[in-house]
Order: sequence, then C-alpha cells, then structure tokens
Amino acid sequence: MSNEQPATETVDPVDTTVDITPLEHAAAVREAFRAGVTRPVEWRRGQLKAIAAMLAENSGEIEGAVRADLGKPGAEALVTEISAVQMEISDALKRLDKWMKPRTASLSAMTLPGKGQVVRDPLGTVLIIAPWNYPVNLLLAPLVGALAAGNAVILKPSEMAPHTSAVMAELFPRYLDRRAVRLVEGAVEETTQLLTYPWDHVFYTGNGAVGRIVMETAAKHLTPVTLELGGKSPVFIDGTADIDAVASWLAWGKFLNAGQTCVAPDYVLAPPEVAAALVPALKAAVEKLYGADPQASDDFGRIINDRHLQRVTGLIDQRKVAFGGVSDAADRYISPTVLTGVTLDDPVMQEEIFGPVLPVITVADRDEAVEIITGRDKPLALYVFSTDEATQEEFTTQTSSGGLVFNAVVLQLAVSTLPFGGVGASGMGGYHGEYGMRTFSHEKAVLRKSGKGPGGALKLAMPPFSPWKSRLLRRVLKG
Ligand code: NAD
Repeated sequence: MSNEQPATETVDPVDTTVDITPLEHAAAVREAFRAGVTRPVEWRRGQLKAIAAMLAENSGEIEGAVRADLGKPGAEALVTEISAVQMEISDALKRLDKWMKPRTASLSAMTLPGKGQVVRDPLGTVLIIAPWNYPVNLLLAPLVGALAAGNAVILKPSEMAPHTSAVMAELFPRYLDRRAVRLVEGAVEETTQLLTYPWDHVFYTGNGAVGRIVMETAAKHLTPVTLELGGKSPVFIDGTADIDAVASWLAWGKFLNAGQTCVAPDYVLAPPEVAAALVPALKAAVEKLYGADPQASDDFGRIINDRHLQRVTGLIDQRKVAFGGVSDAADRYISPTVLTGVTLDDPVMQEEIFGPVLPVITVADRDEAVEIITGRDKPLALYVFSTDEATQEEFTTQTSSGGLVFNAVVLQLAVSTLPFGGVGASGMGGYHGEYGMRTFSHEKAVLRKSGKGPGGALKLAMPPFSPWKSRLLRRVLKG
C-alpha cells in the first residue's frame, strides 16, 4: 500500500470487519503495529492527509450530524470541530520531521566517548475514548497526535452524539488504513469491554467519574492514561478590566455550544461594583450574538439530551436569575442565563454546570478570589480579566490550573504550541501540537558506544581501587 496516495484509493472497498467484536478489532490493529505498518513517516503523513481529506470532502455531512446532535450552527461546527482539527493536521505535517528527529543528549566525563540520543518511539496500540460535546474535534485531535507518533489506534466516539458517531463510523473505513486505524461505535458495554484490553495507552476525554474507571481498569495492565477531564473553570474580574470587553468574551465563551464546553467559564468572582456593571453588559453582549430571543436564533445550540436539560435546569435558582432562566424541554433549549447573589453553598456551585448558566459571586478582592479557587478542585482553565501586573503575577504564582488565560477565554485551545490538559481533578497529561506527539510516544534513551571495552574516566570507577585511583576518582566526581 502506498501511503502518500489519497486514502480512498488505498483501502479495500469491501469492509470485512463489521461483524467482529471490539476486542477483535483491538487485536487486529495490534497485529498491524507489530508488522510495522504504522512506523514509516510516509504512512503517518498519508493517514494525516487522509483525515484532512475526509473532513474537507464531507464537511457538509459532518456539520449536519453535529447540528442534529447539538443544534450546533454550521459555521460554529466548521470553526470548532473541523478547522480546529485541520489546523492540528497541518501543524503536524509541517513539523513531523522535526518531531521525529532524535535529539542529541550530551554525555558526562564518565560516559564519554559515545553518543547519547533521545528517540521517540510509538507506544504501540492505543485507545481514544471521546465525549459528545465536541464530537469531531475531541475524537480526531488526539488521533492526530497518535498517528503522528506512529501508533495503531482504536477510537470510541460517544454514543450520546449518535449522528456524529454514525457519520464517523461510515467515513473511517473509506479514508483511513483499516489495518491500523479503526473506529468502534458503542456505549458503556463496548467501552467496558475495550478497557479490558492491554493497551499501550488510553486517552480519555470526559467526566471525572468515568475517568476514575478508566484509570482503575488501565492500572491492571500498567497502561498509562491521559485523562482530559472537566470541572468548574473560574473567572476573576477586577476594576482594571474593560467591562464591555469582558462581557463580549464571556458571552461568546460561555454560551458557545450552549455552555457545553470543557473550558467554558463556569462561574465569575468579582468585587461588587464590577459585578454590578458586568450584568447589563453581559445582557447586551448576549443580545448582540443571539438577538433578543436566542431560542429563535439559528446560532444558539441545544442541550445534548433530556437528562442534561433537567440537570442544568435544576441548577437555576429562579430567585437569583438576573436574565434568562428559560427552559424548554421539548426544544432541548435553555436560554443564556446569568445568576447573581450566588453563594458558594448554592447547588450551582457544587458541580460543573456544563450548560448556559453563569453564576456571579461577589468577593472583596483578588486575595479572596485566590482563596476560593485554591480551596476547590484544580480547574481545567482559570480566566483572569485584569491589566494589573501584580494581579497577573499573583494568579500565575499562587494558583494551579490546567491553563491560565489573561483577558480572554477559550482561546488557549487554539494555540497548538501550548499544551492542553488538566491538573489534579481536571485531568492528567496533555496534547495539541508537539505535546500530542509526546503523549503518544515513549522517549527512549539510546546510548551508542564504539564497540571497545570500558575506557576513559569510567576505568576509574572500576576495581581494583588503588589509593591513587580512589583519590583521582573523588577529584573527578567532585568536578
Ligand atoms: P460522555 O458521556 O460522552 O462520556 C465520555 C466517554 O466515556 C464516551 O465515549 C462514553 O461512551 C464513555 N463512557 C461513559 N460511561 C462509561 C463507563 N461507565 N465506562 C466506560 N466508558 C464510559 O461525555 P461526558 O463525560 O458527559 O463529557 C462531559 C465531561 O467531559 C465534562 O465534565 C467536560 O468538562 C469533560 N470534557 C473535558 C474535555 C477536555 O478536553 N478536558 C473536553 C470535553 C469534555
């Protein structure tokens, strides 16, 4: 198989693999890895180009599926699902040779002469488990890293986004090399079965409860995991911030995908005067994006299913609604909602909201905000709106979060030279750009010696240790 050719020409049009079990798929792709299919750089490039072609040639169908699952506007799907992955691919294609090039490691006096190298080895056969909220992006962006690193891959899309899962299942065998890259559809039963396999890596994106199951199951085989989890990402705003600018960032980042974004601002901490100015500015910013009635706007998304609609609706305390607060189960719609007068004990502050509801909590100052943030689970993202250097410094040095963004939201995802991942309860490991390559590689230590016996300074470290040799050795080791 020539891997630089368009992938459509490289695969057998008859799919003989549809009736086999998830574990048989896993075993099949492992065979391909063992046979060396995935290692050549040409194969890796060919597969990355095949994903790009799959997205470009089927963008209409993919956008339609994402709209059916999440009511996501086509243009939004294009930006956040399709072109986000295209960008990862073009970055990987541009830099793959550099990423794969062994890095030279300098040697010490004891280990000279010789040559030290760090060689990036593919891990082997990896499982990627994706969630429903960005069902294309969060399935394919990790795949870019896994393929760039030369692995064989099984992907498990979320059953909660069934239209997208079905479209991907149909497209994958048409574009990708089925010997080594397969998509297995399914829900808890299939995922549970897949997790029993001795993977070389499991990459999971989703909630922390399932993240714990993934890690526990992977531990049985000492399989390393990447966990891309969520949590409550706070926003702190101080008096130096331009409130209209803050409002337009928050209205976009919070209500994008109807709030079902892992790095969406979850709640706001602000001094009372800032909070008071923010609410009307937010209302105006929301109207600017979605009009006076967001339900009538084609640009505002829907809640994934009834269970989540009921859960998010239950977090809205009607007595605290500053604007919004409308929920229409028949349409899976919840309006962009801002809550004020919220306390840390309110139900809305006990779990990740993952919906279009933004609570605003007043704090005395940045120290109180830092205390609240550091007293809770480490968030995936922390957003600070302040132009004050001391404030930026305090948040940089005194808080821990997956990412920290000043004077913007969500945009960190689009910077492929920054690692994307959580810390503590928001996850472990990261990806995007070279960080994806690293996640799916083993950095192997390679030491090359000449073929002669031990010599040079190393002789000093070998018996017999005469008094003069011991003295010399001590001098050498002291440097
Ligand atoms: P989900 O329900 O689609 O679950 C994710 C995956 O786990 C699915 O493929 C599903 O089949 C599988 N799964 C579900 N239950 C399982 C079980 N018992 N055993 C094994 N596998 C199981 O998605 P979700 O968890 O509702 O996703 C939302 C959460 O994901 C939020 O907390 C969000 O913050 C987080 N998230 C994080 C990121 C990130 O990049 N860090 C991105 C998106 C979402």
